[in-house]
Amino acid sequence: MIIDDSHYDVIVIGSGAGGGTLAGALSRQGKNVLVLERGGAMALEDQNVADVDLFRKDRYHPRNEQWFGPDGDPFAPQTTYALGGNTKIWGAVLERMREQDFGEVTLQEGISPAWPINYSELAPFYDAAETLYRVHGKAGVDPTEPKRSGEYLAKPKPIESFLEPLRCALERQGCKPYDIPLSWSEDQDDPSGDSQLFGLEVSDLDHLTVQSNAKVIRLHVSPSGRQVKGVEAEVNGDSWLFNADVVVLAAGAVNTPAILMRSGNTHHPKGISNGSDQVGRNLMNLQLTSILQLAAERNNGRYGRSLGVNDYYWGDKNVSFPLGHIQTAGGVLQDALFAESPPVLSLVTKMIPDFGLERLASRSVAWWAMTEVLPDPHNKVWLNNDQIRVNYIHNNREAHDRLVYRWIDTLKAIEADPVTKVVIKAPTHARGEAPLSVVGYGCGTCRMGEDPANSVVNADGRCHELDNLYIADASVFPSCPSVGPGLTVIALALRLAAKLS
Ligand SMILES: Cc1cc2nc3c(=O)[nH]c(=O)nc-3n(C[C@H](O)[C@H](O)[C@H](O)COP(=O)(O)OP(=O)(O)OC[C@H]3O[C@@H](n4cnc5c(N)ncnc54)[C@H](O)[C@@H]3O)c2cc1C
Repeated sequence: MIIDDSHYDVIVIGSGAGGGTLAGALSRQGKNVLVLERGGAMALEDQNVADVDLFRKDRYHPRNEQWFGPDGDPFAPQTTYALGGNTKIWGAVLERMREQDFGEVTLQEGISPAWPINYSELAPFYDAAETLYRVHGKAGVDPTEPKRSGEYLAKPKPIESFLEPLRCALERQGCKPYDIPLSWSEDQDDPSGDSQLFGLEVSDLDHLTVQSNAKVIRLHVSPSGRQVKGVEAEVNGDSWLFNADVVVLAAGAVNTPAILMRSGNTHHPKGISNGSDQVGRNLMNLQLTSILQLAAERNNGRYGRSLGVNDYYWGDKNVSFPLGHIQTAGGVLQDALFAESPPVLSLVTKMIPDFGLERLASRSVAWWAMTEVLPDPHNKVWLNNDQIRVNYIHNNREAHDRLVYRWIDTLKAIEADPVTKVVIKAPTHARGEAPLSVVGYGCGTCRMGEDPANSVVNADGRCHELDNLYIADASVFPSCPSVGPGLTVIALALRLAAKLS
């Protein structure tokens, strides 16, 4: 094993939404930071501006990696190992959780637990996160929007022209569509923001070292078991040991618990910081269903996500529990999530046989329905002879189905509205749920809490059983709100940077 000579203030493992943001912020505070990232720079043609290849869906899967599902069958996860992690292919929709999402929320199937922090504690970091990631948005339209200190710094970018009449059509149905807040850069080739651009590249370069192609295998602890003393990584085929005063795991909701479990020793027989047996448990993956509508005119299939609707976020007429969030998907040829959905699209081509897949993509308006799930200890990431296993069964399904049917009714009403010319009545609204391999929205596997008996990290993100080990990624979420987790991961990372200053 090669032992690195340098000693760092902080080692950050992973450079996605949490790690990339944290590393940049700490370096600006003058800390000497080493980032260990298992991927390398992602080729521009594979980034989110590139055409989603509907037929070669492994484009968004790491090569040579298989995880195993509940039945033991292998699957290729849709997760990106690269500088910037999943933010390289995300939709860049950066929404705040609602105030109530931080408290206990009664879902149809049970109680979604409270966080150990509340909205007002995170609000200044949400402000900072939106500024850092240049979030374009418009306040005051979405009635569920949480309190904010002011307007977004940048106005929403104009949306595709055929979506404007759809916005009006939704308003005629009594909905309150809003421009979803999006992270945008000025880069023509790759306009959506990500954590390589707004995390690593806005760092103080004198204080940041980025080691790519460095896959962290395990952590080594002091004889007392209270301190991480070494981080073991495979760098270009060699085994290396790095050390720092503070170590932060930000390898995402599946790899962070895997590293902890792989690091077991006499002090931590079930894995580091796993005395509570909670590491890897409570995996939550948003329920995501795509719903297709037929457009009257061709569109180019290449545009970003645009409109959001939260009219059913907290319920509906005669429904007193949350249903979830709706957003327009990006164009079917651009939104990476569709790379996982050829089964849905091919179903449609069967129903409309004269439509090729490419033509269908350009004649569709696609929507995502998103509903939160409850933490369940049986939904877990675990290691079987070092292979990653994911046991997962969605819960809160009826609420999600209600949202999907409610939305299809809304779409039908729009299509029946004679004023609306941009969509046409379809014989049916094809839809499909994201499969287990779409793990990119996963969270909850090292949850945050004050009680070490049922959580892994405290409210600051520090592992209960160690003095210098923190977690700064989506695994710390105690619950999984129906809006995407990205902005909250970024805000938590900025909050941790402030705590470590
Ligand atoms: C197609 C897609 C679209 C999405 N769209 C949105 C959206 O519009 N809005 C939203 O809020 N969320 C979206 N998400 C979810 C969002 O991307 C994630 O919630 C967010 O990136 C989580 O941040 P993270 O820091 O936890 O993990 P990640 O961003 O996944 O980062 C983890 C990092 O750790 C690295 N890593 C993993 N294992 C190791 C190891 N052993 N050693 C070293 N490095 C390691 C990875 O390479 C990666 O860089 C989307 C996800 C996908 C897949």
